[in-house]
Amino acid sequence: MVKKAEKIWFDGKLVPWDEAQVHVLTHTLHYGAGVFEGIRAYATVDDKSAVFRLREHVVRLFDSAKIIGMTIPYTVEEIETAIIETLRVNGLKEGYVRPLVFIGDGVMGVHPGGNPIRVVIATWPWGAYLGEEALEKGIRVKTSSFNRHHVNVMMTKAKACGNYVNSVLAKTEAVADGYDEALMLDTQGFVSEASGENIFIVKDGIIKTTPLTSVLPGITRASLMQVADDLGYKVVEQIFTRDELYIADEAFFCGTAAEVTPIREVDNRTIGEGKRGPVAEKLQKEFFNIVKGGNSDYVQWLDYYEI
Ligand code: PMP
Repeated sequence: MVKKAEKIWFDGKLVPWDEAQVHVLTHTLHYGAGVFEGIRAYATVDDKSAVFRLREHVVRLFDSAKIIGMTIPYTVEEIETAIIETLRVNGLKEGYVRPLVFIGDGVMGVHPGGNPIRVVIATWPWGAYLGEEALEKGIRVKTSSFNRHHVNVMMTKAKACGNYVNSVLAKTEAVADGYDEALMLDTQGFVSEASGENIFIVKDGIIKTTPLTSVLPGITRASLMQVADDLGYKVVEQIFTRDELYIADEAFFCGTAAEVTPIREVDNRTIGEGKRGPVAEKLQKEFFNIVKGGNSDYVQWLDYYEI
């Protein structure tokens, strides 16, 4: 269960959690044309709090809306301020932030007509998405029977609500089969991403991730590419196949919710030594250090706030 916070920001007002309700004829509820974000705030080493890469997340929200053809009735700055305000009013020193832009009720039918564009920002405390143990020991993954979207069916650069039907199908299949997460291939058969994470592999010291063609442009992905490069690793964006993943020295998923989660097994094949590898461990350690304000070289990625 989501741990309730006190208030939710709803169309410019902070309303009590239980009163953030919509009508059942809300357009997005029926047709899935909405966009959202997933953002994390962390308690920092100097006893403050900081939102990780706030600007990049809010810009992606606006980009997603543009792709879907929705106009958000606020500015980037207004949404940023609202996110910080919502965290503060809920007394959250750390937690997850979920902005959602959706089409409200009015006309029904696929064309949304002049229905209002509505915006909510919810925040709640949220620990490790795939479990604390997963961060250390790694997870078991299964290649999904569902492909990731073809780029001309659903546009994967939008973090669009409807895109996640594909993720829900893949994730529930993987969990029902006893795995932790689903790996999806694109419609050509190359490795794409997981239900809510981007993927990296490591082979002979080279770090590889998929190009952005059929995946969400992950902000954690971009951050890790930068950090790995700064640490002196060679990082490449290149298509790869599932068998290349099977024989990788290491593999890991990344995302705002999943942070840096090592993969210990794919399709019942052990990856590397079947535990968190040294590159994943190093990047994970550095990632947590950065998000908690422990490395001043990356302070520009943090928006500090005080409760
Ligand atoms: N791919 C998908 C499908 C996702 O849902 C997410 C989570 N937002 C990611 C990748 C990772 O993106 P980010 O690092 O920006 O959270």
